Amino acid sequence: MPQLIDGKKISAKIKDELKETVQKLKDDGVSICLAVIQVGDDPASSIYVNNKKKACAYVGIESLAYELPEETTQRELVDLVEKLNTDDRVNGILVQLPLPGHIDADAVIRAISPDKDVDGFHPESVGRLCIGEEGFVSCTPAGIIQLLKRSGIEIAGKECLVIGRSNIVGKPMSILLLRENGTVTVAHSRTKNLKEVARRADILVAAIGKPKFITSDYIKDGAVVIDVGMHRNAENKLCGDVDFENVKDKVSAITPVPGGVGPMTIAMLMYNCVRAAMK
Ligand code: NAP
Repeated sequence: MPQLIDGKKISAKIKDELKETVQKLKDDGVSICLAVIQVGDDPASSIYVNNKKKACAYVGIESLAYELPEETTQRELVDLVEKLNTDDRVNGILVQLPLPGHIDADAVIRAISPDKDVDGFHPESVGRLCIGEEGFVSCTPAGIIQLLKRSGIEIAGKECLVIGRSNIVGKPMSILLLRENGTVTVAHSRTKNLKEVARRADILVAAIGKPKFITSDYIKDGAVVIDVGMHRNAENKLCGDVDFENVKDKVSAITPVPGGVGPMTIAMLMYNCVRAAMK
């Protein structure tokens, strides 16, 4: 059986560490507040927003919820973001994605002050990440680095393959692995001979968005596999981009779905909120 990289346990540990930091900050008179904006009532978004509120309550961060109707205009949303930018009580602003089709998500992300950009999606945060400056890092890839480090997995010098090049997962993931001195390849839908490319990887991160896409013929013996994918099957059970049962005898370590990458995203959001307040 491979090493199971336990995202539930590691994220709980990070939240406990943050809880202590938040208490110390409170003792010094610093309070932390996250504003969470949701437009419309997409059920999946409502679950994510609720989980974020719960994590805030656990860690000791105040959360302000803005639940706006589906027909909210882009101007109204940007006005709210701009108001929160100048509200000294608010340290972090999160706009839950996806937004309704009539709103340009990029324009809304750009409206968030880079000092309060706890999702790490603002172009300034992304630019800082690229040039190695301090800044907010997108929560899912930041969580994956924590999973690797806290599981004792060395990144430096390793062949790392990220499959997927989205702005929120694949691209920042590749930069973070590079920052940790991995030798990084990024694959995408136009990559040729993906199986061959994948079989060179010591660390494989699958962020493809296709259930059970990665089978054992993509895996080098003893590879570490990180499964970012999240899908519900017909029985409403979660599965990832990796066919866990098919690869488990070939890998040295792997994240399960659920209980791997998923819980880390919220833990890193809490981390970014605490950092915002410490600034
Ligand atoms: P996305 O924006 O849809 O990007 C998917 C990427 O996979 C694209 O770059 C695409 O390439 C690539 N791809 C698609 N088909 C491929 C193929 N056959 N071979 C190689 N590459 C292929 O998805 P995302 O937002 O990055 O999310 C990826 C997955 O992670 C989803 O399942 C999502 O639900 C999950 N996710 C989980 C968390 C979490 O907290 N656990 C957070 C975010 C996302 P092109 O660029 O060429 O189209």
